[in-house]
Amino acid sequence: MDIRENIPLAPYTTLKIGGPARFFASATKESDIAELVRFAKKNRRRLLVIGEGTNILVADVGFSGLVIKMEIKGRRVSASASASASASASAADPETVLVEASAGEIWDELVDWSVSEGLYGLENLSAIPGTVGAAPIQNIGAYGADASNVITNVRAFDTSKMAFVDLSNEDCRFSYRDSIFKQKKGRYIVTSVIFALKKRGRVNIEYRDLKEYFKRLGKTDPVALTPKMVREAVIEIRWGKLPDWKKWGTAGSFFKNPIISAKRYESIKAKYPDAPGFPEPDGRVKISAAWLLDRICKAKGLMEGNVGMYENQALVLVTKPGATAAAVVDFTTKLIEQIEHETTVKLEAEVEWVN
Ligand SMILES: Cc1cc2nc3c(=O)[nH]c(=O)nc-3n(C[C@H](O)[C@H](O)[C@H](O)COP(=O)(O)OP(=O)(O)OC[C@H]3O[C@@H](n4cnc5c(N)ncnc54)[C@H](O)[C@@H]3O)c2cc1C
Repeated sequence: MDIRENIPLAPYTTLKIGGPARFFASATKESDIAELVRFAKKNRRRLLVIGEGTNILVADVGFSGLVIKMEIKGRRVSASASASASASASAADPETVLVEASAGEIWDELVDWSVSEGLYGLENLSAIPGTVGAAPIQNIGAYGADASNVITNVRAFDTSKMAFVDLSNEDCRFSYRDSIFKQKKGRYIVTSVIFALKKRGRVNIEYRDLKEYFKRLGKTDPVALTPKMVREAVIEIRWGKLPDWKKWGTAGSFFKNPIISAKRYESIKAKYPDAPGFPEPDGRVKISAAWLLDRICKAKGLMEGNVGMYENQALVLVTKPGATAAAVVDFTTKLIEQIEHETTVKLEAEVEWVN
């Protein structure tokens, strides 16, 4: 295998910053994975798998282990030999189409293909950058949908067992921007994901921005809407809020929305009556990190040197050429501290720190 040395990682990330990887290799087939893991173990090096690098912040000193760039491609439709019992059960439903996509596939190409086939399930997750293999890692979500709603199984290489394993949706322990892959960091290398999509269905336009979008068009009956229409709406809404990640350095939302107790939310409301809160099924309340950043730090468009927050969205960090990882940490730490001081809520990064 071609294992290269001292490869700058900045060009492999959308934040466009960070130092080199001590070792770097591309995996284009499943057998590459076992070989690369053996190399890392033999040389006592840590492993980092990357897709499109849209959700990582690499330290200026780089990463002293082996970076595996996931480039396994391919897509199969309907139940496959590798599909597990739970996926096969979904396939027994004639309205369900099982799609198995390899980890190196581009996420939005999968979404685009699914809506062009008239399939329901992925449309709300349109235009999220990155790969299919990364989707289960933080359980990507947007516009009222999470990847975990449609993932039935994940195939992964278990670096502890040195074998491929098939994880059911339940095994993945999905929650808000979280999964077993984050909880047991470094243990699993995802090689493919199976999605259960529907031939017929009803689109989900409950999310406020989507509801308003279709209301403006006079189309309020979800039954009359197709996944393609929802995809187009999501793309239009997203472009109004997000910087073009091909031009700006960015990783999208930098922080997670905090989930706090109802009591704590009431105390924030006492100080900031307009603080929006969204009830969670367990009684807690999700509060908007964008709102906290904007209200408390006036973060929209706030720049410090080459690092700042996007002018249209306070949650989206942007970098200009010359930015360093240290400057990002410095800038975001100040925001975290300011919000904690005012509300006692400590924002957590959604973007993963690599060092
Ligand atoms: C402009 C912009 C908008 C965004 N909008 C959203 C959004 O709406 N919703 C949302 O949820 N996210 C969003 N993101 C974040 C990002 O798109 C997702 O997290 C995406 O899934 C990351 O994919 P990636 O291939 O770039 O992963 P990377 O950034 O390369 O990796 C992210 C993490 O996943 C791990 N990983 C990647 N591939 C594998 C694999 N095959 N096996 C094991 N681990 C792996 C990495 O080690 C790392 O920990 C946005 C990012 C940007 C830049």
